Amino acid sequence: MTHVYDVVVIGAGFAGVTAARDLSVDEHSVLLLEARDRIGGRTYLGEAFGRRLDLGGTYVHWTQPHVWRELRRHGIPLAVPLDIDRVYWLAEGAVHSGTRTEYGAAVAPLAARFFADARARFPLPFAIEAVDAGKVEAQTVGDRLDSLGLSPYERDVLDGALATMVHSYDEQGLAQLLFWAATNFGDWNAFFEAAGFWPIEGGTGRLLDAVMGESEAELRLSTPVRAVEVDDSGVVVTTRAGERVRARAAVLAVPLNTLGDIELTPGIAGPASGMVAAGHPMRTAKLWARLRGELEPFYAFAPVGGNGINAARLEHHHEGDSLVVCFASDAAALDARDRGAVQAALRTFLPDVEVVDTAFHDWVGDEFSQGTWVHHRPGNLTGAVPLLREPHGRLHFAGGDIASLVVGGIEGAMETGASTARTVAAALADGTH
Ligand SMILES: Cc1cc2nc3c(=O)[nH]c(=O)nc-3n(C[C@H](O)[C@H](O)[C@H](O)COP(=O)(O)OP(=O)(O)OC[C@H]3O[C@@H](n4cnc5c(N)ncnc54)[C@H](O)[C@@H]3O)c2cc1C
Repeated sequence: MTHVYDVVVIGAGFAGVTAARDLSVDEHSVLLLEARDRIGGRTYLGEAFGRRLDLGGTYVHWTQPHVWRELRRHGIPLAVPLDIDRVYWLAEGAVHSGTRTEYGAAVAPLAARFFADARARFPLPFAIEAVDAGKVEAQTVGDRLDSLGLSPYERDVLDGALATMVHSYDEQGLAQLLFWAATNFGDWNAFFEAAGFWPIEGGTGRLLDAVMGESEAELRLSTPVRAVEVDDSGVVVTTRAGERVRARAAVLAVPLNTLGDIELTPGIAGPASGMVAAGHPMRTAKLWARLRGELEPFYAFAPVGGNGINAARLEHHHEGDSLVVCFASDAAALDARDRGAVQAALRTFLPDVEVVDTAFHDWVGDEFSQGTWVHHRPGNLTGAVPLLREPHGRLHFAGGDIASLVVGGIEGAMETGASTARTVAAALADGTH
């Protein structure tokens, strides 16, 4: 048994790094254990095409209070995206093209029908614990699409607009999509902008490093945790290498889909245990494609299952070429490292494009994520997730996957990291821990 810490934080994504920073600057001794050889988790500012590119979570917004506060404190600006006025969308087997206004006119009435009851279902989006989402919690995204009586063309247009957020219509809960819209005034477009439009200048690593730079926590990389045991006097954390560390409390800030790989004593009980065992179903892929030449900036959308790539956006001109960020709703349906496969999928929209290179991180195959951002199965968003946000004695959970507001995002990760740190600090101060 090594040194005794006040808190061991497990997982150094945005949630764990925030919790460790807040607790350590509050004079607590904190050990931050991270399985990978880097911090950042599902955000990853990697190297590709001779520059730095975000291969995981990327976009933030000024409506996200925790992210925005940190960006302002550290003087980090947002990057201004390229102006795009060309959209391609695949519907009923044909590619349609128009300006953003024309595409918006095609999608807006359909999205309005899909999200019509978002605010009514979540009238207090900031207090989701108090919400009775009722019938919608039992439904899937597919149930809602099926209920709208859409023509085949309308269905493909709406499906394509939602496709970035969907891996499986049959497994993803309707409640989370409605909740996301509700937190953005009930407006899907507002949600879409908040979730997927504004990158951080210099990448997410800049924000991460700024927060980590303030931390007094001791960081150990390449240290996966195998087990956490709670007893009357504290917690014992055991690493896969067999090291045992004692602390007064532990914060588990790992992805929902990896939580089941850590042996917890006592275990998680009730509906939350079922949620952990089943995991969340998001198995999408994000990849970058370098296209030859400086092309006119564009967006492209295709319905789930309609094309290997379901959403694409030209994000940078770089050394005379174009860098396009792409999302595949089913990571297994496209080999993102296969230039030819990516080129064929993009040629659906632009028949002449030439893919020079691709860049990608396999978040689904990565044992420390086992999926991309969270999308909760029916019943979990207002059922099991709030239970995991509750302290489990000396054991606390944090992470974007269980956030109460921006669930599935960097903001949610930072919010839960900060709120969990406050809860733990209070328990350390009053002697409960
Ligand atoms: C492709 C992709 C695109 C995304 N796009 C966006 C976006 O544009 N905007 C946005 O806001 N969000 C986006 N997200 C989601 C966002 O990245 C996540 O919600 C957020 O980063 C989660 O942070 P976290 O700290 O909760 O979890 P993670 O970042 O997953 O951190 C958890 C950490 O726990 C570690 N860990 C796991 N198991 C163990 C173990 N046994 N022992 C020790 N450590 C362990 C992991 O290695 C990891 O570092 C995206 C995610 C992906 C994958």
